[in-house]
Amino acid sequence: MSHRPIYLDNHATTPVDERVLAAMLPYFTEHFGNPSSINHVYGWETEAAVKKSREILATALNATPEEIVFTSGATEANNLAIKGVAEAYFQKGQHIITVATEHSAVLDPCKYLQTLGFEITILPVQKDGLIDLNELEKAFRSDTILVSVMAANNEIGVLQPLVKIGEMCRERGIIFHSDAAQAIGKIPLDVQAMQIDLMSLTAHKVYGPKGIGALYVRRRNPRVQLAPQQHGGGHERGMRSGTLYTPQIVGFGKAVEIAVQTQATENQHLTQLRQRLWEQLSVLEGIHLNGHPTQRLAGNLNISVEGVDGAALLLGLQPIMAVSSGSACSSTTTAPSHVLTALGHSEQLAYASVRFGIGRFNTVEEIERVAEHMISTIQSLRKQRTLV
Ligand SMILES: *Cc1c(COP(=O)(O)O)cnc(C)c1O
Repeated sequence: MSHRPIYLDNHATTPVDERVLAAMLPYFTEHFGNPSSINHVYGWETEAAVKKSREILATALNATPEEIVFTSGATEANNLAIKGVAEAYFQKGQHIITVATEHSAVLDPCKYLQTLGFEITILPVQKDGLIDLNELEKAFRSDTILVSVMAANNEIGVLQPLVKIGEMCRERGIIFHSDAAQAIGKIPLDVQAMQIDLMSLTAHKVYGPKGIGALYVRRRNPRVQLAPQQHGGGHERGMRSGTLYTPQIVGFGKAVEIAVQTQATENQHLTQLRQRLWEQLSVLEGIHLNGHPTQRLAGNLNISVEGVDGAALLLGLQPIMAVSSGSACSSTTTAPSHVLTALGHSEQLAYASVRFGIGRFNTVEEIERVAEHMISTIQSLRKQRTLV
């Protein structure tokens, strides 16, 4: 194979694990039946496969299988959660609370609801990327129907205090939604302990296939009502119509099963690689770690670099490593990352930032090579600057 850059963009997407692919393959050609076909074995066998994945996901969240609604990914799950609650509860209230550093798949549905008359409070974050619980306390209103706070941030990896947020929402009878696209399989999740009512998931950030995700929808204490956003055959208890995508669902289940089983050792591996990278890079002057130093995903390192041009930095890194500046979802635009500006960064620091998403298949040798190249790139860019 040619020398492709080292892949360090595992927050954008991950490769499908070979074991996941192997589990999926028979469901394309051999076991191709429609899981809704109740009259023959073709349907029964795919129905059984879907059931198994549902159980794996439910177990991973400490939920029940009936509470898992399959979707096309976390974007759809977020849309279903936010718009579905707004439509079902608008008579109770029309105020929603979310956070400045959320993914666009949360912020944009909220902005859309604003055009329909809903009021949205967007909480700021502290310098470390965590929300201030006092700010949340102050934001609650008698007409608040929903709080949406992500589990793990896709740019800076910070883990929000879900247990405390869940407690505060439950006390007030407000529905709590969490986008856990980056968290599933990476950190322990428990919808009971965290008092979460809705949780968005996706497979492709955890070595599963793209195009499949799920929304956890609480059925008891309290039972959450959702207005479907897609109407049709009444699949997924009427909340999301459309023929179930069996191969992807099987892959999702397998991916989460592996991730949960290997979570502890994988996190050790990732933490070791991240620390190695950070120890080497932080020897340079003017390197800032973005996000809380410990309350974060093991595989995430996000840094801002003083005294270099962001575009020139990325260009210099490209031949050796595949990394992101800012959010992958907004990398087609040149606006600085909304997450980094929410931390209070200047435009220069927000632009000159690099997100390393270290993953399951990265090695120590790769990290050494990346650190070395990163350091020499920064040094030569700074030298050029002082020359002109
Ligand atoms: C990737 C991501 C999404 C979007 O998920 P898709 O499955 O690609 O639609 C949403 N939220 C977060 C935090 C993400 O990282």
